[in-house]
Amino acid sequence: MNKKALSREIEELKKKKKILIVAHNYQRPEVQDIADILGDSLELARIAAGVPEERILLCGVKFMAESVKIISPRKTVLTPEPEAGCPMADMITGEDVRRLRKEYPDYLFMAYVNTSAEVKAEVDLCCTSSNALALVKKLKGEKIFFLPDKNLGSWIKDQTQTEMELWPGFCYVHNRIQMEDLEKGRQEHPEAVAMIHPESPLQVLKAADAVLSTGQMITYARTSPAREFLVGTEEGMVYRLQSLFPEKLFYPMGRPFICDNMKKITLEKVHKALTDEETIIQIDESVIQKAAQSLNRMLEMS
Ligand code: SF4
Repeated sequence: MNKKALSREIEELKKKKKILIVAHNYQRPEVQDIADILGDSLELARIAAGVPEERILLCGVKFMAESVKIISPRKTVLTPEPEAGCPMADMITGEDVRRLRKEYPDYLFMAYVNTSAEVKAEVDLCCTSSNALALVKKLKGEKIFFLPDKNLGSWIKDQTQTEMELWPGFCYVHNRIQMEDLEKGRQEHPEAVAMIHPESPLQVLKAADAVLSTGQMITYARTSPAREFLVGTEEGMVYRLQSLFPEKLFYPMGRPFICDNMKKITLEKVHKALTDEETIIQIDESVIQKAAQSLNRMLEMS
């Protein structure tokens, strides 16, 4: 079946079955096009909690589907590809956190949402790339153990001068963005404003014009008087921004950066998940309850 016919069938199936499709900004263009809602991981989880649909199909990596389940434990959360994991989230386990807590007993443990449900259940507080900086500023005086992303942690540490220990995890996609990419982008598009995601290396973050989460990039592009932008994040975001603001121009920062894990989700797999309804996210009730505490603490503080 070609893409058009497959998309049509997906549209019919989701309506007939009353299944809401939510998709992350890094999904393939054709998957973004059949989604009911697009956004970053927490945005999707919060929106999924507020809609009447009892079944949600999450197009993104596993920790994102888990976040939907943690925030909406009574809903059925489906994934088109159970093997689509996030290598950064997999760089730390609940066991690691339990051990670290013994080594750093007077530290507050803060986890980026890009972690498994098991890890969220072991920490004090979660954060996103949009609110991490503000949350750490509010926690003035606390010693913080930040995990798993050393780049996001280094950025916060640099901006707040907070005493922080960092777990050496990283996103293999954003960690590849180098100074040469920023310089090449600026040479090719001298009028463009350089936006970059804080999972990128600190040196590049400091040299760019704006350090922003994907949600913040949308607001920035909407409100900025600039007409051209370099986008320092996964290439799916370039498509998303270009679709939202066709009158402006968006370019990858020097070269395209692709998350193979996000791209494991295809229209064929979305169609199969809608048809079979077998790939359901399962998390232990006790893990859901503990993970919800660290997520809720973040929401209360935001
Ligand atoms: S882009 Fe990076 S953080 Fe996001 S899913 Fe891919 S590997 Fe994980």
